[in-house]
Amino acid sequence: MQITATHINYYNICHRKLWLFTNGISMEHTSDTVADGKLIHETSYPQRAEKYREIDMSFKLSDEVDLSGKIDFYNAKEKIIHEIKRSDKIEGAHEWQVKFYLWLLKLNGIEDATAVLEYPTLRQTNTIELTDTDIRYLEKITIEIIRLKDSEKCPPVIHSKICKSCSYYELCYVEE
Ligand code: SF4
Repeated sequence: MQITATHINYYNICHRKLWLFTNGISMEHTSDTVADGKLIHETSYPQRAEKYREIDMSFKLSDEVDLSGKIDFYNAKEKIIHEIKRSDKIEGAHEWQVKFYLWLLKLNGIEDATAVLEYPTLRQTNTIELTDTDIRYLEKITIEIIRLKDSEKCPPVIHSKICKSCSYYELCYVEE
């Protein structure tokens, strides 16, 4: 199975969301959040493209797991990933997404890279580093992601505040 930052992100947000996504039920085209996120990338930092590189990475972790990821803004000289978030809230899932990228860089021989999470609407930035404990966690959840995908039963609705901005909201709450 190919595992991307989206799987890592969804695993940390909601197992039901991950299950729906990995089983081919995709509704992101209906999500304003995704559209707004793309807009922020294009309007907040118009000069970005000149300074940073976009890179695609992959790594075969095992017979079962291929990792892959695309970093939009990578400063190769300083070994810094820049990731922009539209959210008005700092979320743990954002950190795990960039830690996944840092892990991929490390697996591809680029040691000691760091990441900067940028929240333009909050005017805040967070620097993220990858620890050995993080790597063990990421290794563990790649196995759990496969187990969840193969599970016959869709995990339950989580009844969380974040459901309102989730693209699966209507699907999850249609009968309630
Ligand atoms: S609406 Fe809530 S329960 Fe349903 S997939 Fe999204 S986050 Fe999970």
